Amino acid sequence: MSEVDWGRVRADFPLLERKVHGKPLVYLDSANTAQKPAAVIEAVDAFYRRHNANVSRAVHALGTEATEAYEGARGRLARFLNVAAQDLVLCSGTTFAINLVAWSFAQPRLAAGDRILVSRMEHHANIVPWQLVAERTGAQVVPLEITPQGEIDLDALDRELARGARLLAVTHVSNVLGTINPVREICQRARRHGVFTVVDGSQAVPHQPVDVGAIGCDFYAFTGHKLCGPTGTGGLWGRREHWQSMPPFLGGGEMIREVRFEGTTFNDPPHRFEAGTPNIAGFVGLGAAVDYLSAIGMQAIARRERELLEHALARLAEVPGLRLIGNPPARAAILSFLVEGAHAHDLATLLDLEGIAVRSGHHCAHPLMQFYGVPATCRASLAFWNTEAEIDALVDGIGKVRRQLA
Ligand code: PLP
Repeated sequence: MSEVDWGRVRADFPLLERKVHGKPLVYLDSANTAQKPAAVIEAVDAFYRRHNANVSRAVHALGTEATEAYEGARGRLARFLNVAAQDLVLCSGTTFAINLVAWSFAQPRLAAGDRILVSRMEHHANIVPWQLVAERTGAQVVPLEITPQGEIDLDALDRELARGARLLAVTHVSNVLGTINPVREICQRARRHGVFTVVDGSQAVPHQPVDVGAIGCDFYAFTGHKLCGPTGTGGLWGRREHWQSMPPFLGGGEMIREVRFEGTTFNDPPHRFEAGTPNIAGFVGLGAAVDYLSAIGMQAIARRERELLEHALARLAEVPGLRLIGNPPARAAILSFLVEGAHAHDLATLLDLEGIAVRSGHHCAHPLMQFYGVPATCRASLAFWNTEAEIDALVDGIGKVRRQLA
């Protein structure tokens, strides 16, 4: 018996009730973006209806309420990740977060010939910023290879670390393979060699309890819209000593103490890194999202998604001509696959006609596609609100497409 009434949980998501092409929606694209529970939608609505003002700039009541709501969201997120709020910079998402580390932290520390290790399974958001700083500094981006199953090759990691590196960028959970990387172990090994670590937590924090402090990384990035929150929200946790030493990334309002034409002094972290008006309503929504997820319990969510994953693995194994890409033993509920005789885009388009939303393409992970020698895959990504019946609908849908294309 499951400890949570998942049917009731599903009813919290208004969008899941809609139809697509006259069929009940089967949303299997949570790795792309998560659907939002009513609690999040209502929190954003209530902010705009009753509290809307800018943060930190007004002494009037609404200004105070907006500031408290924004800082309250930072506190909620910090508790959710088990970190101190002052070490958590709020930003628009993982892409911004990793660019912030690349330009503010890494660039001043990199010299010509320095090596930046980047795992083969990274999203472009954790590759391209490193290429850009490497170009500027003369550093070199070195791929950290994976095994055919889709795990980080820990022997290759040791070899690369022994050759020397300045920084290591690795995802906690792969957005294509679902691999849950042993980031604690990886960061420990890197630290022994004096290598800084940046962990992309985009696909981890929505699906399992994450104690960021226990990982032992230098930076941890995440994005709010995959965490049932609004788009344009996310955060970057960093070690306090790093924040203290880092110059601002963007200049403008909110991030200063005093501006003179002779020179400007900057605010303390985290505000030093939050120039301009933030997505206040978005963070109010994200705060509501972590309250919502915490009330269900991240352990319970992880267990439910594990059940769904096992059902999906068993059912997909029955589909003739279906090839799963990667087979990592420790995995989240993300499944990439190809079906003989069907291009990934055709498959996704025809499934859409059945009301089934899966993603097709390279998933912003070209180097991983190159590793597996495929241009694109179909990806089904599950969340706790999905059902076994929806997975069965996917399997039936694939069968129908195969018959159509035969
Ligand atoms: N990293 C991973 C692993 C992702 O899956 C994604 C989004 O798909 C990103 C980074 C980028 O996140 P965002 O577009 O919210 O910045």
